[in-house]
Amino acid sequence: KPVILWFRKDLRLDDNQALKAADLSGRPIIPLYIKEPAAHTGALGAAQAWWLHHSLEALDGSLRKRQGRLVLASGEALEVLGAIIRESGAEAVFWNRRYDPSGAAIDIRVSHELENQAIEVRSFGGQLLHEPSRLLTGSGTPYRVYTPFWRALEGAGEPEPPLEAPAKLRLASPLTKSERLESWKLLPRKPDWARDFGDLWTPGEQGAREKLRSFVEDRLDGYKEARDYPAKLATSMLSPHLALGEISPARIWDATRGLSKRVPTADIVHFRKEIAWREFSYHLLFHFPRLASDNWNDRFDGFEWRNDDDDFEAWRRGLTGYPIVDAGMRQLWRHGWMHNRVRMIVASFLIKDLMIDWRRGEAWFRDTLVDADPANNAASWQWVAGSGADASPFFRIFNPVLQGQTFDPEGCYVKAHVPELQDLGAKYVHRPFEAPKSMLEAAGVTLGQTYPKPIVDHASARNRALAAYNATRGAA
Ligand code: FAD
Repeated sequence: KPVILWFRKDLRLDDNQALKAADLSGRPIIPLYIKEPAAHTGALGAAQAWWLHHSLEALDGSLRKRQGRLVLASGEALEVLGAIIRESGAEAVFWNRRYDPSGAAIDIRVSHELENQAIEVRSFGGQLLHEPSRLLTGSGTPYRVYTPFWRALEGAGEPEPPLEAPAKLRLASPLTKSERLESWKLLPRKPDWARDFGDLWTPGEQGAREKLRSFVEDRLDGYKEARDYPAKLATSMLSPHLALGEISPARIWDATRGLSKRVPTADIVHFRKEIAWREFSYHLLFHFPRLASDNWNDRFDGFEWRNDDDDFEAWRRGLTGYPIVDAGMRQLWRHGWMHNRVRMIVASFLIKDLMIDWRRGEAWFRDTLVDADPANNAASWQWVAGSGADASPFFRIFNPVLQGQTFDPEGCYVKAHVPELQDLGAKYVHRPFEAPKSMLEAAGVTLGQTYPKPIVDHASARNRALAAYNATRGAA
């Protein structure tokens, strides 16, 4: 009697505990992926849909090498599982746990219903280093602040070493008819806005392992300093692979072990601390699901957002007149990804300079990021807004010109994504609106025509935002 292995955000064979258990059970395995209704799991963003298409192809490829194939089905999880159980006679369903509120709620319901029908259900960890309920404060409550959470994570001992992918698998001969991946229409049609994604990304676990290998070999040394400079591409770029579980955090953690002769400890620790930020975001979302859509700090409920649609449109299209903001937003559109430093800058600009509700920015990121992640995205937006758990205070408002000059001193990042400013010297590349006319002319820039004038004056926008914040505080 077969066992159904239900793949979700764990599209890998490596370090896959549910797969390992299914393999050890000796039963033939039916590998299954279900496209669940958006109303149940939240809509899949367009960029991540592109990724998912290629990731499912890659997973199917790995299973075919082992004489199997991935069964694709769409519909409500319980109904799909029920139909396959009836058809195949499967007596067990195994999966790796998910921790986002909607996914976790579905899993509880499905396991309850299946167990009522005497189907064995087993769930496993692996999406995180530690179960979100494992690390708790001395008084048994969830953490709300990162630093003590990190200390607890460090103190929890080394995570379990990752499991190797089984070389052979006993896969059930597919009785069940699989849907065709093409029929899910996950890829963009015309225009193909994802045409440049392939320059940067190889979805699937092979691509993930290659990103990890090259990062550990070439970029981990010096990570702590270089990670803040967007032109350097000095980070791991593992986020989209983690978002769909093509690689486990335990595998990444393990790859940073035993390197202290070659790589400074400060770099290793700093990188591990970023992985721990992901753990922390999930810890928060798991214990406080309202983080996804409500201000953590309800003082912000009374904040008078401006929500100007023209400003929002200029921000989305990278036409704000602030080069570092525009470069970030265009990188996001072009590659489905944006450097972390620039994410903070564009988010601060949206929330504070334009006074647009962080939830509109979060939704745009969810639709355009290949690494869109329910925990990291919401927690990070709330962090920048100042409304989050362990957040940056609202009054810390990034100056987009100074940020650009500090983290992209030569303007290389700006020029890579805002070609209109290609010939402008480093001195003015982050503030073309202050450049002498002759210099703009020589660089072929006409403000308001070839490149926008700033849509707001930063200094006045800053004062406006602080006044609105103080008014909210007064009202609270
Ligand atoms: P690296 O520097 O190589 O870090 C390694 C891993 O650590 C990342 O892949 C990620 O899983 C984790 N990590 C790094 N920084 C953070 C962080 N600040 N918070 C939580 N985890 C982190 N990350 C997402 O994965 N999905 C999102 O939807 C997302 N939305 C964001 C929105 C905003 C407004 C901001 C400011 C940040 C957001 N981040 C998000 C966090 C961070 O920007 C990305 O994880 C990081 O840029 C991914 O690049 P990397 O893999 O090269 O990172």
